[in-house]
Amino acid sequence: NNEKVNGPIAGSVPRGKESGWDDNICYFIKKRLSVWCRLPNGKWDLGKIEETLGDEATISLLSGTVVKVSTAELLPANPDILEGVDDLMQLSYLNEPSVLHNIKHRYAQDLIYSKAGPVLIAVNPFKEIPIYGNEILTSYKQKAKDSPHVYAIADAAYNEMMRDEKNQSIILSGESGAGKTETAKYVMQYLAALGCGNDSMGYEILQTNFILQAFGNAKTSRNNNSSRFGKLIEIHFNASGKIHGAKIQTWFLGICITEPAIDSYGGSFLVFSADRLNLRMASEYKYLNQSECLVVDGVDDGMEFHKLVDALDVVQICKEDQEQAFAMLAAVLWLGNISFQVIDNENHVEVFTNEAVENAARLINCRAQDLMLALSTHKIQAGNDFIAKKLTMQKAIDRRDALAKFIYTRLFEWLVVQINKSVKVGELSTGRSISILDIYGFESFKNNSFEQFCINYANERLQQHFNRHLFKLEQEEYEEDGIDWTKVDFEDNQECLNLFEKKPLGLLSLLDEESNFPNATDLTFTNKLKQYFNDNPCFKGQRGRAFGVCHYAGEVTYDTNGFLEKNRDPMHSEFIHLLSSSGCQLPKSASLSCQSGGLESSMQSVATKLKSQLFKLMHQLEKTTPHFIRCIKPNAKQFPSLYEDDLVSQQLQCCGVLEVVRISRYGYPTRMTHQEFAGRYGFLLKETNLSWDPLRMSVAILKKINFLPDMYEVGYTKVYLRMGQIERLEEQRKQFL
Ligand code: ADP
Ligand code: MG
Repeated sequence: NNEKVNGPIAGSVPRGKESGWDDNICYFIKKRLSVWCRLPNGKWDLGKIEETLGDEATISLLSGTVVKVSTAELLPANPDILEGVDDLMQLSYLNEPSVLHNIKHRYAQDLIYSKAGPVLIAVNPFKEIPIYGNEILTSYKQKAKDSPHVYAIADAAYNEMMRDEKNQSIILSGESGAGKTETAKYVMQYLAALGCGNDSMGYEILQTNFILQAFGNAKTSRNNNSSRFGKLIEIHFNASGKIHGAKIQTWFLGICITEPAIDSYGGSFLVFSADRLNLRMASEYKYLNQSECLVVDGVDDGMEFHKLVDALDVVQICKEDQEQAFAMLAAVLWLGNISFQVIDNENHVEVFTNEAVENAARLINCRAQDLMLALSTHKIQAGNDFIAKKLTMQKAIDRRDALAKFIYTRLFEWLVVQINKSVKVGELSTGRSISILDIYGFESFKNNSFEQFCINYANERLQQHFNRHLFKLEQEEYEEDGIDWTKVDFEDNQECLNLFEKKPLGLLSLLDEESNFPNATDLTFTNKLKQYFNDNPCFKGQRGRAFGVCHYAGEVTYDTNGFLEKNRDPMHSEFIHLLSSSGCQLPKSASLSCQSGGLESSMQSVATKLKSQLFKLMHQLEKTTPHFIRCIKPNAKQFPSLYEDDLVSQQLQCCGVLEVVRISRYGYPTRMTHQEFAGRYGFLLKETNLSWDPLRMSVAILKKINFLPDMYEVGYTKVYLRMGQIERLEEQRKQFL
């Protein structure tokens, strides 16, 4: 099959390699066209090829320096007229350095939004830029503006919903601090502006966002205001396009967010709540002072607190419940101050009796004795009885932190339930909703643990949704234009998903199996994986307790240390017991109302829960027309105007932007309407032909330039060209002009 060799067809194109480029090198030398050259330090630089000798090329860089590199380190650069295009799809050569350069060029002019075909790329500016607000919003609404913008995406979703009566979704992804939550806010702002009726529902929904952020976000070293949860807000509209309700779903990614210390939950909110509750200075709470980032620059806690109380009033949470909620937060803080003392030479501990225990117990409304017991012992079954066994220091500390997290999570879930009651729609419309999904992006660190395993699995699922949607779009476009789309093929990530999900031999099943096996350890688990998946191309066995998975975004190595324990989440039911015997209404009602399955769902492993949550989510999303926004963090320091190539490149890979572009362009990257095509290249034909209709002219032009039959297609409305073909036309045009 000739096409598979020449054409940019999926599957035959090695990742990152520009097909057809090798043949083109001579052309680039002859025409003195610019190329990207990867220098030994890994950076890309622009230059021109002087000559090649075998695999070695001599390049003169723009700076004047001459270097010798392997031709494998060269990629074609785009002509200058394509510098900073709105849509990456317009680039003739879509390779990593070209994409990177284009986004950087735009970013330097505060053009933080770009398109990659149907996807919006948003690069976090880390400063205020005047591209939001009523005036700009209106110009997008009136279509006076059409440059890439989050408003344009919201507008498209709204209009498609009203036109087709089909539910829409806006899916935001990106790593922590990339700007997902902020971008979601602008989406909501736009929708609220379009859909504000006579009542205050739009306003109320914006307030809920603020509440969830105040409670659910944490200040981590990577993001001042990082969401520790995934969130889906479904906004419902009535027949005249006005907002009439909303539904919020959140999940702490299967309650498996177990950061090394609770401080990631501390958050700026806890800082000021502590203050307001007449507690100690924030710095006296261990959970807060560990985070090294007590003060958020420019945030006035007092003001924020008033805003929060106002917002809680708006969603009709009564004062009494508000007090309870704050008391629970205070309890979380006091728990952090509980300490232990060693009582024997086996490192067993007891709770150190002090005001921390007293206060925490008082706020939770249980007996201090019960709390102390729950923190320093664990129950094991002996026949029909349970006996309490003393814990060692580290285990007790872990347990204390787990309880704090447990209460915090329950509190958060309770809040969501209350908010949903307040913004609930009476009669849910079908086909008139927009769901905004704000979810943790793919993560790949030096050390990756169970949390990354879960997050990346979730992202793999979302990616499949994304791929399928893109492919469908492509297919539709070809079909509508009368092109045979069977010639276009693309890679799927199904194999990687199978590795996770297959039963009984998949990563998740095996994890559950080992988690239930009394003598299993993280090492036996790893060995089992290595034994079963030895031949799986998506799996990489590694030394010791590590294994690798080839994700769509690249290979990630996981350390299985703690996998079994975290998956079992064993403390869960004991905590439910403690809290349900306490007199405190709030966490109790929350834990009961949130677990519709009651104790039964708490018996499920974290991995199983995550999987079923994901299936539910995907099922929901499948009923919508998706719109994708990929958020990019241009530097780790959260500085304005700083664009770190490596970091961006890595994220483009992780959020699949290069993949999108590749998929969308596998077939025919260049698409021009017959009018455009004939208008631009009509000069190739004799004047007498000018009375022809554009389609006929297109065909004549293609014939004239003598393209190989595989290199183009003619549709009813457009000309489709394979990668690199447009250059030949442009070259002729340059000579002609
Ligand atoms: P994420 O939800 O992806 O973790 P956030 O949305 O919380 O990230 O963004 C992190 C920070 O980046 C915000 O607190 C804000 O300071 C800044 N930021 C993000 N998007 C924008 C934007 N469009 N304009 C200005 N600042 C932004
Ligand atoms: Mg966020």
